[in-house]
Amino acid sequence: MTVLIEAKGLTCGYGKLPVVRDLDLTVSAGEVVCLLGANGAGKTTTLLTIAGALPRLGGSVLVGGKPAPAAAHVVARRGLALVPEGRGLFYRLTVAENLRLRRHRRSRVSVDDVLAHFPVLTGLRGRRAGLLSGGEQQMLALAGALVADPDVILLDEMSLGLAPIIVERLLPIVRTIADERGMGVLLVEQHILAALTVADRGYVMAHGSVVAEGTAADLRRDAELLEASYLGDKTAVAEGLV
Ligand code: ATP
Repeated sequence: MTVLIEAKGLTCGYGKLPVVRDLDLTVSAGEVVCLLGANGAGKTTTLLTIAGALPRLGGSVLVGGKPAPAAAHVVARRGLALVPEGRGLFYRLTVAENLRLRRHRRSRVSVDDVLAHFPVLTGLRGRRAGLLSGGEQQMLALAGALVADPDVILLDEMSLGLAPIIVERLLPIVRTIADERGMGVLLVEQHILAALTVADRGYVMAHGSVVAEGTAADLRRDAELLEASYLGDKTAVAEGLV
């Protein structure tokens, strides 16, 4: 399997202050990998740094086998798409306009190809993004990343503010796309069990470090310990997992 993202000893944070230390992580083609952990564990910081939106303070990140450039737009050209928390949509533009804007000349997928995964959006092409429901907006954010035809996609808290039922519909779409296109996915998600149902592997972070990692099946079996990690009980998790 082609390794699409490889972080080694990654230390990152804000200004000179590290909030994530010495993190090792990989995502390969066709893999859905989830990054779990309590609020403030460092998941978003990790995603932003891999995407080139925050500078590295130490360690290395390879994207597509080459050192990741230190600028988000250059990393994007390497085939990495980030769907940030808060969705990053143009709310005054229509669904179709949002998608056309995100598509670039080198994309091998059309807007229609992507919409085939989101039948709900097909009927809403002419509607302004700002008038969509929260779930529809999240679908549009995901669809917008996909029309850029990335090799790997980073999804930050897709479920934020959404009903669990919407999350349960969106996550299988992510799985299908990874399977059909061989795309790699790195997923930050608060709905642990829903994420582990579609994921291949996962990493659990606490206080800026990876405290456990394993297959999704193994992590599902340790769901109680995972819940403990969300409460910040690093020792319990470190002793019980890995
Ligand atoms: P959440 O689910 O709340 O987003 P997270 O695991 O994604 O949690 P991060 O957002 O990566 O956590 O935050 C990690 C740490 O970095 C936290 O202690 C947070 O307070 C700090 N932090 C986040 N953003 C900034 C910032 N812009 N400047 C300084 N510190 C920040």
